[in-house]
Amino acid sequence: MTNFLEMSGISKRFGGVHALRDVDLTLEVGEVHCLVGENGSGKSTLIKIISGVEAPEAGGRIIISGKEYPKLSPVYSTHCGIQVIYQDLSLFSNLTVVENIAMAHHLGGVHTVNWSSMRAVAVATMAKVGIEVDPETKVSELSIAGRQLVAICRALAADAKLLIMDEPTASLTRHEVNTLIKLVSDLKRSGICVVFVSHRLDEVLEIAERVTVLRDGAKVGTFAAAAIDSGKLSHLMTGKAFEYQ
Ligand code: ADP
Ligand code: MG
Repeated sequence: MTNFLEMSGISKRFGGVHALRDVDLTLEVGEVHCLVGENGSGKSTLIKIISGVEAPEAGGRIIISGKEYPKLSPVYSTHCGIQVIYQDLSLFSNLTVVENIAMAHHLGGVHTVNWSSMRAVAVATMAKVGIEVDPETKVSELSIAGRQLVAICRALAADAKLLIMDEPTASLTRHEVNTLIKLVSDLKRSGICVVFVSHRLDEVLEIAERVTVLRDGAKVGTFAAAAIDSGKLSHLMTGKAFEYQ
């Protein structure tokens, strides 16, 4: 399998806090890869480095689609097809669904906007994702799950090759989680790599092919989801005595 992303020796300090210590990560094209770890283990920091929002310390390497980036900025990261959906979703709640999705190209650095063609892309993306709301609905009127889908549409409209979701299920009901899991498997089939951050280990094992565990900023390991269960994962996350082989 080809790797979409290869990172090695990634470290990051915030003052006295060692948020990441010598972390390696590979993401294969078309895989669903979950990132798990307790609060403060470094998951969001790793995502911010992939998206170019935070710079790692010297010595780390980042290779995307075979090309090494000595310095990754948000603009480079977006150009490489990396789209992150943070927990706050970063939507404009006073704008409509279709306006938010059409914003994708603007956020991608394209400032001359052909509104009607972008609307068409936005509506087509909504159909692909299966959002059943009027495109003219204001985002402020949607549920959290509805907003989540809008954020996913916007990422797809920006031609995401790697879609990273930071704790996307934290405020969803089980039924909404099921919808999201199904959507992620559809995305995977279309060749998109998905990174899914979650602390709900059952859903992690349901959705992921591989799981990377972080603990205190260090990588414990990357495991095939089929070869591990939630009990073992939980032990790996907390570091409590456990023999794993
Ligand atoms: P997670 O997403 O796994 O909960 P984070 O990556 O957010 O973990 O945080 C890892 C560690 O780095 C934590 O101790 C956190 O307090 C610290 N940290 C993260 N971002 C900053 C920042 N901008 N300034 C200072 N400390 C930070
Ligand atoms: Mg976090």
